[in-house]
Amino acid sequence: MSLSPPDTASKTDSELLEFMLWLLAALGCKCRRQDETIVVEFVPDSLRPKIGGDAALKLEFPATGAIDQASVVTLDSPIIRSLIDELKATQIVGRAAPADQPESVREVSQRLFDAYTVDGGSVHLGGCTLEDRAVLRVTYVDRSDAAKMKPRLRQHFVTLSGEPLSTSLVESLGLKHLVPLTRSIRMADDQRERWKHIAETAIKGLVRGNESDVLLTTVVWCKFAEGKLAFVIGDATTAIGFSGWAQLFVDGSEKPPALVCESYPQGSHHLAATDDGRIVPFEAVVTCSESGKRVLSGDLETCQATGSKALPEFFVSCPTSGARVLRTSLVACATCQQMVSPTSCDARQCSGCRSLAKVSKNDPRMARVLDEYPKLDRWPRWKLAETNAAYVLVASSLAKRLLIVIDKHDLEVLRLAKGSYFSTKWTEATELDRTACLQ
Ligand SMILES: [Zn+2]
Repeated sequence: MSLSPPDTASKTDSELLEFMLWLLAALGCKCRRQDETIVVEFVPDSLRPKIGGDAALKLEFPATGAIDQASVVTLDSPIIRSLIDELKATQIVGRAAPADQPESVREVSQRLFDAYTVDGGSVHLGGCTLEDRAVLRVTYVDRSDAAKMKPRLRQHFVTLSGEPLSTSLVESLGLKHLVPLTRSIRMADDQRERWKHIAETAIKGLVRGNESDVLLTTVVWCKFAEGKLAFVIGDATTAIGFSGWAQLFVDGSEKPPALVCESYPQGSHHLAATDDGRIVPFEAVVTCSESGKRVLSGDLETCQATGSKALPEFFVSCPTSGARVLRTSLVACATCQQMVSPTSCDARQCSGCRSLAKVSKNDPRMARVLDEYPKLDRWPRWKLAETNAAYVLVASSLAKRLLIVIDKHDLEVLRLAKGSYFSTKWTEATELDRTACLQ
């Protein structure tokens, strides 16, 4: 057979060698790589007339030119065009698959499981399909200046919509080393023509028309995994859907999705269960300071007095400040005896009792109290403070004082105490006093 002389200054054209290895195999030849040589051990009868009649041959892709020049292959060697023409005539487009990619769900699933840590539980497949999805390879000769005066064989990969694949994805999917497709995947002729058109249009946008020479479009079938992962911790269950290139899951360059929740929107691959039976990101699980239960961080309130975090059922609103505080943090005001937030208290007096101010009997609040307890009208001077829950009233005459704490809603007397004008001390009223003062 007749082949062109080599470029004596070139290095091994591994891209060309790899392409030829695939092309020969795709046309039914039996061949293997031996360093910089392809050894073709068998050529099908139908192909022999197209490449010079040989039943077996050697193709050299030398690093230097110092070898048997008759078998050296360069981009201008007629055998390349002959083989490509033969493939196009019979198949329109090439068909290939990565030489190394997962072929079974089992190969993918273990790597998916490995992505998660499940505290006290397990993960298993809740369903998974492994299907072939196509990307397109355009093989072309680059005649631009960037090819440094020497035409180079190049491969460009695009999606079925013509979007280029990133270099890292090409590497990760193993698209640099393809083998002929061994299984049958049905492709209608018009579909092949459509994909060929998409690939060739994409290459026109990449290099200027007269600087590229498109040789062939190849449909490359890669395994795509899709399914659900099911997690179990005790009686709790949850599932996460996943989809992506199987090879990326296997080599770890892509992880299945993290579990997210409102309390931890950034998501986590570390899963744990709350005491009420929800599987959530581990980072979102916290302990309620009152009950000791493991709950979602978003379920807890923060005590405005102590900073402790607990479930809402352990909180009350302070009657003086309105602050949400733990019931266990409340302290009693020495004057009105209401339970209030410690932050409202100063010298054992709540902010309400500290803000007692003179009030006239015409004040609607006083009018309401005097209407309910007419005997109180005997007291000439009044001071009043108000909290969310109560009125705090101090009545005074020449030498005596009276403290009355009244529920704002039903006007029930919560505390009645006597004092003198000369002391700040209060003495609890007796039943007799109550009768005398109130009824
Ligand atoms: Zn008070």
